[in-house]
Amino acid sequence: MSDDNSPTEKKPTSAVDRKERLKIPPQVIPKRDPKERIKNWDEIYLDLDIETAQREASRCLQCPAAPCTKACPLHNDIAAAFALLEQGDIIGAANKFRETSPMPEICGRLCPHEQLCEGACVLGKKAKAGAIGRLESFVTDYQRRQQGWPTPDAAPPTGRKVAVVGAGPAGLVVAEELAKRGHTVVVYEAWPLPGGLLRYGIPGFKISKRVIDDKIRMLEKLGVTFVTNALVGRDRVADKKLTVDNLFDMGYDAIFLGYGAAQGVKMGVPGEDLDGIIMATDFLVRSNVPPEHLPPEWCRPVEPGDRVAVVGGGDTAMDCVRSALRLGAREVTCVYRRTEAEMPGSARERHNAADEGVQFTYLAAPIEFLGDEHNHVRTMRCQRMQLGEPDASGRPRPVPIPGSEFDIPVDTVVLALGYRVERLILEATPGLEANKNGTLVIDPATGATSRPGVFSGGDAVRGPDYVVDAVADAKVAAAAIDEYLRRK
Ligand SMILES: Cc1cc2nc3c(=O)[nH]c(=O)nc-3n(C[C@H](O)[C@H](O)[C@H](O)COP(=O)(O)OP(=O)(O)OC[C@H]3O[C@@H](n4cnc5c(N)ncnc54)[C@H](O)[C@@H]3O)c2cc1C
Repeated sequence: MSDDNSPTEKKPTSAVDRKERLKIPPQVIPKRDPKERIKNWDEIYLDLDIETAQREASRCLQCPAAPCTKACPLHNDIAAAFALLEQGDIIGAANKFRETSPMPEICGRLCPHEQLCEGACVLGKKAKAGAIGRLESFVTDYQRRQQGWPTPDAAPPTGRKVAVVGAGPAGLVVAEELAKRGHTVVVYEAWPLPGGLLRYGIPGFKISKRVIDDKIRMLEKLGVTFVTNALVGRDRVADKKLTVDNLFDMGYDAIFLGYGAAQGVKMGVPGEDLDGIIMATDFLVRSNVPPEHLPPEWCRPVEPGDRVAVVGGGDTAMDCVRSALRLGAREVTCVYRRTEAEMPGSARERHNAADEGVQFTYLAAPIEFLGDEHNHVRTMRCQRMQLGEPDASGRPRPVPIPGSEFDIPVDTVVLALGYRVERLILEATPGLEANKNGTLVIDPATGATSRPGVFSGGDAVRGPDYVVDAVADAKVAAAAIDEYLRRK
């Protein structure tokens, strides 16, 4: 077994070795049967056995240029980790990922790998790219089963205090990185439990809530304190409104704003306020977060009926269609205004949804919702689209085709059209600079906002993005906050 200081086992492969490696067939990544998996919320991927994982790792060509590492926002040394796994050093491989990633078991499950590391994998040009995400979660899950969640040592206390607003991936990583450096960290979170969208958004069939619970427990062991049910910008603590300025008055030396971008976007078409039309977050949270982890007003269960239409084409839409199946809906349709080629989310999750029985209606968009005598939506009237010139996103603009209206009978419609940033903190914080859409302006090299001592990263800065980017931002901001505190 290697320890962390062992030399990286990455050796440039010879031409002969590369040829041999190219002959190794891609291993089958086992999943639960679609008919069975829609009966519950468990993760759909089955455990890999060690031999399969090693064989898959041995397909890695150990490319000296490491395109997979370059494509990873955290620059994980994937080839070195796979060399260790291939040699049977599973814990060494896990630690290799941990050298650069504070959340490998989470990114291994959630990253859009085909757009990042796997998309850059040279194997993908000739055959199937290496199953990098599955191997990352395999080695780190194995390590956690053998050793528990590795808890880093904290440096001696510095006497400095940092408030983190928001317990999503960005806030959690800042908290971990600063607690490791000996600072006192208190995380303020609006929901009853920490985790952000990892808990209150992304369903259990993509990531088990247990993984998030264990991560939080590790952070608490490291000394991080969580204050939950605390909405910064509105709530009061000890008779003082929780604002950025009051947090400084309470003795914090620096503040990280990791409040995300989770305000759902509406369509603005007639009938949108009918009963049975529900925003994606509302749908996902009420359907797959246990009621004991929710405020009372969120506890009403979702009963979607037989026919569910989900409007949108990203990861959130895929999570909604698959959740609808697990809630018992018989006909679930994803309605998207462009074609599959322009869909923004992960192709892997789209395939998982199709395998589970989701239907896709492309090049169509709702123009009106019609209800019954009880004010409940029953019909989604749509119009067909064709692709036009590229718009600001670079994708072809969907152009309505006159006279092409058609109706979809529905019992529930879920709007998964995207998210924007909530402005509560921005409006409560004088001098905090933001873009027109509410995302915070930062120095990308440090995460520093326009207010001295206030840093940010993740979706609050980028708008809706990916977990791995929030983690990467948080690492940058934590290093800069540490530096700021030491200079202070
Ligand atoms: C349904 C869904 C599915 C997704 N699937 C994937 C996926 O498969 N892979 C992937 O990489 N990404 C996915 N994403 C995106 C990913 O979840 C986000 O990019 C990521 O969580 C952003 O992290 P964050 O820490 O910036 O924000 P968040 O995770 O949103 O965390 C922000 C936290 O701040 C809290 N907060 C907000 N305002 C306040 C306030 N005023 N006071 C106190 N606390 C506050 C929130 O309650 C929240 O807990 C998905 C997003 C959604 C909505």
